[in-house]
Amino acid sequence: MIRLNEHFAKLKASYLFADIAKRVNAYVAANPDKPVIRLGIGDVTEPLPPVCIAALHAATDEMAQRATFKGYGPEQGYAFLREAIAQHDFQALGAKIDADEVFVSDGSKCDVANIQEIFAHDVRLAIPDPVYPVYVDTNVMAGRTGVNRDGRYEGILYLESTAANGYVPAPPAEAADLIYLCFPNNPTGAVATRAQLTAWVEYARRHGAIILYDAAYESYIRTPGIPRSIYEIEGARDVAIEFRSYSKLAGFTGLRCAYTVIPKSLKARDAAGQEHAVHALWNRRHTTKFNGVSYPVQKAAAAVYTAEGQRQTRALTDFYLGNAKLIREAMTKLGLACIGGDNAPYIWINTGRDSWEFFDLLLNRAQVVTTPGAGFGKCGEGHVRISAFNSRENVINALARIAAALK
Ligand SMILES: *Cc1c(COP(=O)(O)O)cnc(C)c1O
Repeated sequence: MIRLNEHFAKLKASYLFADIAKRVNAYVAANPDKPVIRLGIGDVTEPLPPVCIAALHAATDEMAQRATFKGYGPEQGYAFLREAIAQHDFQALGAKIDADEVFVSDGSKCDVANIQEIFAHDVRLAIPDPVYPVYVDTNVMAGRTGVNRDGRYEGILYLESTAANGYVPAPPAEAADLIYLCFPNNPTGAVATRAQLTAWVEYARRHGAIILYDAAYESYIRTPGIPRSIYEIEGARDVAIEFRSYSKLAGFTGLRCAYTVIPKSLKARDAAGQEHAVHALWNRRHTTKFNGVSYPVQKAAAAVYTAEGQRQTRALTDFYLGNAKLIREAMTKLGLACIGGDNAPYIWINTGRDSWEFFDLLLNRAQVVTTPGAGFGKCGEGHVRISAFNSRENVINALARIAAALK
C-alpha cells in the first residue's frame, strides 16, 4: 500500500487552539448560564474599513462588464498594488525596495510556510521560542528535524525569548543558515530596536544566512525609532526576506491578502558553490504553484494606501491598541509582570505559575479565555497571551472579572 510522509507523524499530536477549544467547550457545556469572553485566538473582530468595502464593490462591478472583466492576473500581483506597496511601505521609509521585488499572495501564513521549500534539506534552522507555530511545523513536515523530545525538535537551534533578554533573542554563538524572526512578536508583543536588528543583519551577513522577517504586526508600531521593516537596516537587502499582511493591518483575515518581499540582491548557492538569485527561484515557485490573488481583493488592498485608507486603518489599529493599553494597565495593577501591548495587539503575562493552570483559573473563575504560553514553546511556560482583538465592552468586562477573580 502507498506510504505516507512520515515526517508528519513527528508533529505534536494536538494543536494548541484545539486543546483550548476542548476546555472552553467543556466549561460552557457545564456552565450554560456563564457567558465566556474570548481573549485567546489572534483574529480581528472589527469590520473592514469603508475604503476597502467601496473598492471591493467597484471592482465587483468591473467584473460584471465585458469591457472591464478580468481573468487571470499576474501571479505576482497587479502592478497598481505592487507599486503602491514599494512606494508606501518601503521607499517612504528610505528602504530601497522596487515593485518587482514584491510578491502579492493570499496570506502570510502560506508564504512563511512555503518559503522553506526553496532551501536545501540540510540547512541549519534557527527559530524563536516561544513562536508562531507555522515556522516550526512546516520544517518538521519537510523533514528538516528529528523527533520531538521534551517539547523540542532535534535539529532546530531555538532562540530563547525570556524575561532575561527582554523577550528579544540576540544572535547565537553558533552558525545558522535560515533564521526566523517576527517583530512585533506574536505571541509576546515584543519589538526589536534598530541596534538589535542590526546585530541580526550583521550575523546573517557574517554567516551567509537568510533572515525570514515576519512583520505581520508592523502597523501596530507606535514608538518612534522602532524599525517597521528589516530593510531599514543597512545591508538587509542582501540577507532578508520580509513578510507583510493586510490581516492585522486592515482586518483582511477573512478577505485574504498579503505579500512577500525578496530583494533581487539576495543570493544563495547551489551544491557546486554557484550563486543564484533567490528572487528568481521564488518567482518560479510562485508562478508554478499560485495563480494570483483575486482582482477585487487586490483593489481592496490598494485602497489601504489612499489618504482615506491610511486614516481608516490607523483608526482601526489605534482602537485595538486602546484595548491593549487597558489590558496592560489592568495586569500591571494586579501585580503581574507583562510586556507587549504598546506596539502590538498582544500582552504577554509572566504569571509566575504553570501556564495551563493560570489559563484554567481565568476560565473557571473569570470566564475569560486566554492562550497558555506553553502552547507556543518551552519558553512560553509560565506565561499567558492576552489578545486585544475584541470589542471595548468585552475587554472592559473581561478585565473587571479577572480583577475580581484574582483578588
Ligand atoms: C496573523 C499572522 C500572520 C498573518 O497571516 P495571514 O495568513 O496573512 O492572515 C503572519 N504571521 C504571524 C506571526 C501572525 O500572527
